[in-house]
Amino acid sequence: MKETDILIVGAGPVGLFTVFEAGLLGLNCTLIDNLDKPGGQCAELYPEKPIYDIPGVPFQTAQEHVDALLKQIEPFNYELNLSQRVQLISKDGDYWIVETNQGDKYKTKNIFIAAGAGSFEPRRPANIENPDLLLDKGITYAVRSIDHYKDKEVFIFGGGDSALDWTVELSKVASHVSLVHRRDQFRGAFKTEQEMRELVKKEKVTLYTPHLIDEIIGDEKVSGVKLKNFETLEITEHKADELLFLFGLNKKLGPILDWELELESKKIAVNTSTFETSRKGIFAVGDINHYEGKLDLILCGFHETTLAVQEAYRRIYPGERVPFGYTTSNKKLQKKLGVVD
Ligand code: FAD
Repeated sequence: MKETDILIVGAGPVGLFTVFEAGLLGLNCTLIDNLDKPGGQCAELYPEKPIYDIPGVPFQTAQEHVDALLKQIEPFNYELNLSQRVQLISKDGDYWIVETNQGDKYKTKNIFIAAGAGSFEPRRPANIENPDLLLDKGITYAVRSIDHYKDKEVFIFGGGDSALDWTVELSKVASHVSLVHRRDQFRGAFKTEQEMRELVKKEKVTLYTPHLIDEIIGDEKVSGVKLKNFETLEITEHKADELLFLFGLNKKLGPILDWELELESKKIAVNTSTFETSRKGIFAVGDINHYEGKLDLILCGFHETTLAVQEAYRRIYPGERVPFGYTTSNKKLQKKLGVVD
């Protein structure tokens, strides 16, 4: 069983920054995430959207933000385990034993739950059996790279902000974009809806309402799609290279609900001095926690985890003063960062 100073559940921005703050104190971390890449919501939901409210960084796309965080933690000792869900926790004296759904076990004095909205999965089209058969072969649930859709015949499904945003954005690179929605009303920003409707007038986008998907066509790769008109029940067949389903996410606290933590507003209650939960040695930082005045913003998560690692240090080195220094001038910190010998 591997031992680690801090076991971090979730490799979103707050989980990643925990590695940095822990590293400055000389603590090592193990990150576990059920997604196949680090970055949490930033990487999964909106990698190419701009973020304007990271202190000192006037503009960064969400993926650039994740890449910068990964760069920032390079000097530190950490392990990143992806595509695994943290499932079980149990107590062993002063330690916690953490087990993943793949049976890997870790021993630690500090669990940091940086699980955001919980483990989340994109909603699939309900009426299609096994839509993931052609996953990444013409079926996608998020835009990881705009280039992927370049010069392709793209069908986007959904009626919210993501569907509208990506219809507008991808129409700039795709050979053609079609937007399919079950009714002719959208839940997204009115301005984006207007932009989309302008593109329809210019024939850069085709709008199918009230429609839903009826069948995916293709063996090795998507080659087309059948759509059903909700009112007339007519089925039409179309050539397609990419089907992008943007029905939102199912967010579930999942196994975290079984860890006997006090909850508030469906999130984990914490005290705001240490961000510890109702159980000693278990901390909750970032979007997953709740306290009076809580805001689901990246910078709030950074603040929370910076304070939480202080308490984690005290649990590992009881009675010792937690070292404090400025990275601008403290030689020990600069050594840890690898910027001086
Ligand atoms: P997340 O980013 O949600 O990461 C949590 C990770 O934990 C996920 O990867 C999940 O898979 C993993 N996980 C959960 N449970 C488990 C488990 N049991 N085992 C293993 N892994 C698990 N914030 C801003 O500050 N500025 C913005 O401009 C901004 N724009 C946004 C735009 C959009 C469209 C959205 C959706 C959000 C935006 N946010 C913005 C909010 C910001 O993305 C979140 O505040 C931030 O991602 C929270 O980070 P986190 O690390 O707490 O959680």
